[in-house]
Amino acid sequence: MSREDELRHGLAVVRDRIARACADAGRDPGEVTLVVVTKTYPAADVALLHRLGVTDVGENRHPEAGRKRAELEAAGEQLRWHFVGALQSNKAAAVSAYADTVHSVDRVALVARLSRGAASAGRTVDCFVQVDLATHAAPTGRAGCAPADVAALADAVVAADALRLAGLMTVAPLDERPQDAFAELTRLSSALRRDHPSAVAVSAGMTDDLEPAIAAGATHVRIGRAILGERPPLR
Ligand SMILES: *Cc1c(COP(=O)(O)O)cnc(C)c1O
Repeated sequence: MSREDELRHGLAVVRDRIARACADAGRDPGEVTLVVVTKTYPAADVALLHRLGVTDVGENRHPEAGRKRAELEAAGEQLRWHFVGALQSNKAAAVSAYADTVHSVDRVALVARLSRGAASAGRTVDCFVQVDLATHAAPTGRAGCAPADVAALADAVVAADALRLAGLMTVAPLDERPQDAFAELTRLSSALRRDHPSAVAVSAGMTDDLEPAIAAGATHVRIGRAILGERPPLR
């Protein structure tokens, strides 16, 4: 099978899973944006995906993400680029100079830097506040702010000149049923919308948990392995 055929097959499987999950939840599949997470895979795969109808891709590392975007744009391929990875403060401005959407805003210290990077590139960047929903008391080192910090962080994003608040994002904790984490995310999203009615987006759901995420109301699913194949172990 050619790489194009592999990707076409993976995409068909995932689009079918999304359609079924939406049907089960009584939702319109048009409400769910598929972000194909292309991290570790080459720009050539992104170009093939674009030809197969993919409009949104996700990356988790700087500068890999920016390099791929530049390579695709040089070839005339315009996509929406989502940054989904943990952000170091000193790289935030560089990332917001090319990312259309950042899913991983998890502390106030990032906000001014992201806004500065976006402003200097003459653009506005959509931001998701990333929440850590692990129920354990001890910090795990996973990204995301505490649920109690969402409101303050959202206010900071809204106050920043070159950022727009899209909504909330989470990665389901390993030690919990994803249904429970996504239900909590939905509650937090409702609370957020009381203060910020336009912040309706919910970024949740990966290869192993896209169905419960869509059942809970996700508007953005971030899918890598089910489309591109298993990634080599982290370097
Ligand atoms: C890698 C990654 C994904 C995609 O995960 P898969 O299990 O490959 O679907 C989604 N979200 C984030 C934040 C990621 O880092």
